[in-house]
Amino acid sequence: MLRRVRVGSQTVEYELMQTPRASVELRVTPNGTRLFAPKSFPLRQADQFVRERLDWIREAQERLDAYRRREQTSFPMTEGTTIPFEGRPCALRLEAADAPGVRFGEGVILLRGPDLSPEAVRGQLEEALIARAKERFAERLAHYVPLVGRSPARVTVRGQRTRWGSCSGQGNIALNWKLIMAPPEALDYVVIHELCHLYEFNHSQKFWARVARWQPDYEIWRSFLRSGWAHPYN
Ligand SMILES: [Zn+2]
Repeated sequence: MLRRVRVGSQTVEYELMQTPRASVELRVTPNGTRLFAPKSFPLRQADQFVRERLDWIREAQERLDAYRRREQTSFPMTEGTTIPFEGRPCALRLEAADAPGVRFGEGVILLRGPDLSPEAVRGQLEEALIARAKERFAERLAHYVPLVGRSPARVTVRGQRTRWGSCSGQGNIALNWKLIMAPPEALDYVVIHELCHLYEFNHSQKFWARVARWQPDYEIWRSFLRSGWAHPYN
């Protein structure tokens, strides 16, 4: 539910997300400001909650904007920009065409389409990367599920900003499509990590021993993913 609150001369828009949870949490995301609150939380109180945190919201938005500006400077989505794909730098080639299409070649990403503006290219490339990520996840899960020995109830592919993967208590796994830009070993690491949570729902020594069984050098890939490596879709 989209809501607007006024503070002095300013208007703030936020989305009220009613959830079964008991706590109230405010998040500033690339898709806007969201307030997660229990269904019973009164609207007036929700508005007040947001109003009182205006400075915090502004600061979070500024950080996000700064991040985006950096992203657009490093990856301007124009001819020749270097984009990581499966851990290798690829030069972006743009070609005007009526029918949109993206081809991943050796060190090259060839993107064709009717609109080659940076915004359109960014969107079209994102779609193609998500499709490739889904294929790769299916393939790696088919490889690792029989080895690790447990199967997730459901697998979803998302574009989380801060997480590479997650596993719920119900055995549902979520994987981040942005992993398709990382080295294949890093993607494997996340798949193995989440599958191992189907045995150990924690990060105990037992858990890491299980991960190491399927990827002995997992620590390299774990720290790679935590290093803040550069890609265009933060
Ligand atoms: Zn974990």
